[in-house]
Amino acid sequence: MSTTDGLSSTTIAVHAGDGIAERMVTRAKTMPIFESSVFVYDDLDSVDDFLSGNPDNYMYTRLGNPNQRALEELAVGLEGGSDAFCATSGMAALHAAITSLCSSGDRIVASRDLYGGSVSLLKKELERFGLVVVFCDMTDPENASRHIVPGTKLVLAEITSNPLLRVCPVDLIAEAAHKAGALFLLDNTFMSPMLFKGLEWGADAVLHSTTKYINGHSDAMAGILTASKEWVASARRVIANAGGSLSPFDAWLTLRGAKTLGLRMKAHSENGLRVASFLEAHPQVTRVYYPGLESHDQHALAKRLFTKGFGGMLSFDIRGGLEGAKKFVKALRNIAFAPSLAGVSTTISHPAKTSHRGHSPSELAELGIGQETIRLSVGIEEVSDIESDLDQALRAI
Ligand SMILES: *Cc1c(COP(=O)(O)O)cnc(C)c1O
Repeated sequence: MSTTDGLSSTTIAVHAGDGIAERMVTRAKTMPIFESSVFVYDDLDSVDDFLSGNPDNYMYTRLGNPNQRALEELAVGLEGGSDAFCATSGMAALHAAITSLCSSGDRIVASRDLYGGSVSLLKKELERFGLVVVFCDMTDPENASRHIVPGTKLVLAEITSNPLLRVCPVDLIAEAAHKAGALFLLDNTFMSPMLFKGLEWGADAVLHSTTKYINGHSDAMAGILTASKEWVASARRVIANAGGSLSPFDAWLTLRGAKTLGLRMKAHSENGLRVASFLEAHPQVTRVYYPGLESHDQHALAKRLFTKGFGGMLSFDIRGGLEGAKKFVKALRNIAFAPSLAGVSTTISHPAKTSHRGHSPSELAELGIGQETIRLSVGIEEVSDIESDLDQALRAI
């Protein structure tokens, strides 16, 4: 037990408080923040215990930390997987997941409307190291299976695409992947494990940018991947060697945010459906993209996959092209133009100017994204307040 009795002020300043955690009789009810880069060992045998893999033994926060572990237990519990690892962002988790599995020459088949950061990771970074990346339309399983040929190592898709909410037929893509001997990684960020559990539908790994719904408060970044013990162990090795381990504070904030995930996803889904229906009936709106609407061309598939609600993400096309979009964005009062998503407050984004800015006009046309396309992340406010702000801004066009 540490004590500062009889020490000089200089030494006391260094050691004051060190013994509190050791002396405590009671334990904290909720997870404290373990802002410690290193942990103390009582003896040399404890080091052997750490190296033999005791998950309750910690050494150095890049290699593991109680706050990271708590978040990993949350992911395993919600997704029903074997193990999980967290990382400093969704992109860091995806990077570790791919580089732990694939080597130079391996073939990856990815959805053509993957999150922009994921496309950049594959094209700008990983292709340089010899990974062969093929993009295809994953909403059509027959088309996808023509690309997912034997020898494919990894198939990568998102549960619903950004911004047009095209739904991935997860079980059919999993079947195609497994037939070819590939593993299937599903990015489930847009639905959260409250509305969809990818492993139950055949995915081998599920990724979340917890920056979005799982944290839900737009105040921390993190990523998490749930997969087999072997895959997670290799990815941990990548994180240990390359860096990218999550800060204890961001892990703590994320775990705290996640406590209300069930309530939030109910509210996001209820408000999402209400706002989608409201927009569909609005004279200034020409089209709404929301899997919960009957007009969505994959509504039947969405109903099959999403039995607890369709989430809070939607997009819509407005009248007046880019000029109309500019007037609309400017006229909003409470809804912020903020190019992220899935927080408690409603935000909008303009994909052609933000997330898909790097796309050429023909690529945008191929994806179906126009200058008049607005993406809405429907929050948990009172739905009538969201509708009236949208309504007054649409009237300003
Ligand atoms: C935001 C996002 C990511 C990247 O996550 P970060 O936490 O920003 O690194 C990956 N996939 C999807 C679908 C996302 O929305």
